[in-house]
Amino acid sequence: MSGLLEGKNIVVMGVANERSIAWGITKSLHQAGANLIFTNRQERSYKKLVKLLEKHEIEPKLIVSCDVASDESINEAFAKIKDEIGVIHGLIHSVAFANREELQGEYADTSRDGFLLAQEISAYSLVAVTKAAKEIMTEGGSIVTQTYLGAERVIPNYNVMGVAKASLEASVRYLAEDVGKYGIRVNAISAGPIRTLSAKGVSGFNEKTHLLEEKAPLRRGVDQDQVGDATLFFVSDLSRGITGEVLHVDSGFHIIG
Ligand code: NDP
Repeated sequence: MSGLLEGKNIVVMGVANERSIAWGITKSLHQAGANLIFTNRQERSYKKLVKLLEKHEIEPKLIVSCDVASDESINEAFAKIKDEIGVIHGLIHSVAFANREELQGEYADTSRDGFLLAQEISAYSLVAVTKAAKEIMTEGGSIVTQTYLGAERVIPNYNVMGVAKASLEASVRYLAEDVGKYGIRVNAISAGPIRTLSAKGVSGFNEKTHLLEEKAPLRRGVDQDQVGDATLFFVSDLSRGITGEVLHVDSGFHIIG
């Protein structure tokens, strides 16, 4: 697959550490020859990212700070990318957040603020970054986000995040229609449970992975590298006929009743 993304400028949002899904994606995109631009929020994530890039001998084109809770921060980040890189061809959105206390118990107990926060960071952020990115995707492009089965089905404890992911998946379809006329595609990967920093915030995470390993057709778990390669497919021209799609990378778990 080397060379598949040669000369393509791809923005990756959401590397917090080595376990991040966005880091698995980074490795796949790098192997395919992409020029990589990173955005990060917390200083801690920035430091981890710099170390990881050094360790894996990946030369980033640019690292910019971007908090998706702020329009100003998004605008500044994409203005900087435009100034220093020019045109981009891809955007990886691998960002979500909900209060830990709302990822357990009953969905009916979700607070108004907690609901809005999960929607803002996990779903609206895709709308906001698509708006900014399309201005510099002047040669067409591909936007890929990360979702989860909790959008489609009731998964214990996933609660407010499941509803935010449903909103994210609907946004993928509406955005795909909006930007399709500019040659830009928007798709989502729905990964099975993967042990990451964010996943730790969801109660009963271990049971979810055990259930998948037991019931899924492939009888094995999912890892960041599998999601990375599926995301590479969506970023590359191999998927040029596909937009508005949600692709499950979950060992087939979603087909089992
Ligand atoms: P990580 O914790 O590794 O990544 C989450 C990322 O979201 C972090 O880099 C974090 O940045 C970023 N983020 C949170 N809030 C903001 C914000 N306001 N502005 C900018 N960035 C922000 O977890 P994952 O890799 O698991 O999560 C990535 C995506 O994959 C999420 O959308 C998640 O829902 C999804 N997903 C995860 C699954 C899993 O089992 N792990 C399964 C299916 C989907 P920072 O650390 O700097 O705050």
